Amino acid sequence: MELGKYSMGIGDRFSHQGKAQLAAIFLADRHGVDITPVWNKSHREHRIIGTQPARVRAEADAAVQKLLWNKSYFVDADHINLSNVDMFLESSDFFTLDVADFIGKTPDPKELDAFVRSCREYTGQIGIEGIDDPLHAWQEDILRVGEKFLFAIREAGNIYRYIAARKGEGNFITEVSFDESNEPQKPIELLFILRALAREGVPVRTIAPKFTGRFNKGVDYVGDVEQFTREFNDDIAVIRWAVQQFELPSDLKLSIHSGSDKFSLYGPIHEALVRFDAGVHLKTAGTTWLEELIGLASAGTDSLEVAKDIYSQALDHYEELCDPYATVIDIDPARLPTVEQVRAWSGADFVCALCHDPTCEQYNPHFRQMLHLSYKIAAQMGRRFIDALEGHEAVIAEHVTENLFERHIKPVFIGPA
Ligand SMILES: [Zn+2]
Repeated sequence: MELGKYSMGIGDRFSHQGKAQLAAIFLADRHGVDITPVWNKSHREHRIIGTQPARVRAEADAAVQKLLWNKSYFVDADHINLSNVDMFLESSDFFTLDVADFIGKTPDPKELDAFVRSCREYTGQIGIEGIDDPLHAWQEDILRVGEKFLFAIREAGNIYRYIAARKGEGNFITEVSFDESNEPQKPIELLFILRALAREGVPVRTIAPKFTGRFNKGVDYVGDVEQFTREFNDDIAVIRWAVQQFELPSDLKLSIHSGSDKFSLYGPIHEALVRFDAGVHLKTAGTTWLEELIGLASAGTDSLEVAKDIYSQALDHYEELCDPYATVIDIDPARLPTVEQVRAWSGADFVCALCHDPTCEQYNPHFRQMLHLSYKIAAQMGRRFIDALEGHEAVIAEHVTENLFERHIKPVFIGPA
């Protein structure tokens, strides 16, 4: 199972944009850049919309057949745990084991002790090629990492073994995610997390730490870009080192969740990948749903009404929609346009407010995040929404492909012209 150096989490809420997304990967291919497409959809999305994982598999297979894609591709059971993995076993060959909720739970004292002892040779200064300021770890630091993460890593092991017993070892890609936690993991923590994962026997291929700063859904990064850049570089160096030291899979790489629309980070990310000749997995599924709305708003009067109705109903369900995404959104309700304002907008007004063009005066990141969460409303609309999607397929597909290729693939994987 080769994930390749570069891979990208695509996928969409309503399983209608598989071809348009794959078309963006084809464009990369034409520019000489190999990217493995991974259709991902989280348990949370399935629950909110009321869909089954088999539909994601069908979408991926159909797109691949239609466009004659002859390289590898995967279907990712995103953010799963033992309570919901069963429904994904059949259709997925990539599993993102989300153990963020288990961070900070007390590990077995004997295991903790054994872990700390196993790390003894890594106390003091740890010289890692590619890191300017050498990392340090004292025994109490290692103990602290163990106290914080060992329980969660044991849980990752439990989920991994559960899947492996059913699908067979080597028949799927394993990602471990910590991204939806409250505190970022520093490079030194990542180092000992990898040590623990190796001891646990999890053949992790992609790892999603929580990076410093805010990775809000559908909008640009909020935080200190310089600090992010330093940590991202250090994380890559730590991974490269840990692969050797701990005998982890040689293609282990970082996975960036909520990875769409982080325009201010793409330059530094690209530079780091070039500097280390490293790979990355970038998850971008959410941005495609917003392109669907942009397509609808620009396509005509009826479909603009659909988009406006979604916003209006979303405001009525504000808390219910925000709750499951608390760690990955920052909406200031005072800066959301009122329903009356939006009702008066033209299609172009709606598109300008929603489209992620930070240089546009009308662009409103609060509006954009709110709509990001509103796919549940679209799901409840049922046929009316799906008919609108299907009726304007060509316009929407153009937006989906262009957004993925021009704003994401180009700056991250291809780099400046
Ligand atoms: Zn995530």
